[in-house]
Amino acid sequence: MQPTSSYIGRFAPSPSGPLHMGSLVTALGGFLQAKVHNGIWRLRIDDIDPPRIVPGAVESIQSSLIAHGLLWQDEVVMQSHNQQRYQKALHQLSESGLVYFCECTRQQIKAKGPYYAGTCKYKTNLTPPYSVRFNNPGGVCSIEDNRLGTVSTDPVATGEDFIVKRKDGLYAYHLASVADDIAMGITEIVRGEDLLLPTACQWSLFRALQKTPPQCMHLPLVTFADGRKFSKQNYAPALDNNCAAQNLTEALSYLNLQVPVEIVHSGVNEVLHWAIEKWHTKHFC
Ligand SMILES: [Zn+2]
Repeated sequence: MQPTSSYIGRFAPSPSGPLHMGSLVTALGGFLQAKVHNGIWRLRIDDIDPPRIVPGAVESIQSSLIAHGLLWQDEVVMQSHNQQRYQKALHQLSESGLVYFCECTRQQIKAKGPYYAGTCKYKTNLTPPYSVRFNNPGGVCSIEDNRLGTVSTDPVATGEDFIVKRKDGLYAYHLASVADDIAMGITEIVRGEDLLLPTACQWSLFRALQKTPPQCMHLPLVTFADGRKFSKQNYAPALDNNCAAQNLTEALSYLNLQVPVEIVHSGVNEVLHWAIEKWHTKHFC
């Protein structure tokens, strides 16, 4: 079906390993949101941090998405190709007086408390290497989420002058993500609940770049039995592409949808078709 609305969503994994059940839930939730809005669902590979890139992960992520019927539209966006875009966004912030240099080490910052205290804000003679920090005009107290409703966020945490360009010259996650979301025309960000705070931080950046933040939906996290989040760092097992219909069924259970057994046996396309129909009736759509 051709897109008929202005909805544009994205799935933005970092290529630090293969997809696991946690990333499948995020991908599937974003895919379903795009489908019920007759919109576009795009794939972006967040590969701005070379040390974290695992060889073969980009191909593995793409083949897993295809095996699970989660077909994205348009060309794949590679963050590593967008340096000029990030430089431009940084320049725009700089023109507005919304960045400053920081020479502090991680240890110095940690010794002063949980958040960066603006130590270098008014310093003039700095010793390189230095990072570039966002001169945050004020923290975000709450965000409107399309699944959770109004969510309170800590204005101290979201008001921190976070790094937008690292000492090693790499652009930081918040800046790259926001600059790309703006350039890609993203209308809704679908991601895991663990990213509520980063979302609130990014809302400040959207506004600093004179853009209205998109809508957002934060999905339930997949955890191990002991409560730890499913993640590559926690050695969450990779998806078995040969069990795609079963994997989708499990992912849907985390989204409170129980797929009938006969649909699971019919295959991937039937499970997705069923899920799109059911997702329509969920109140948060
Ligand atoms: Zn500093």
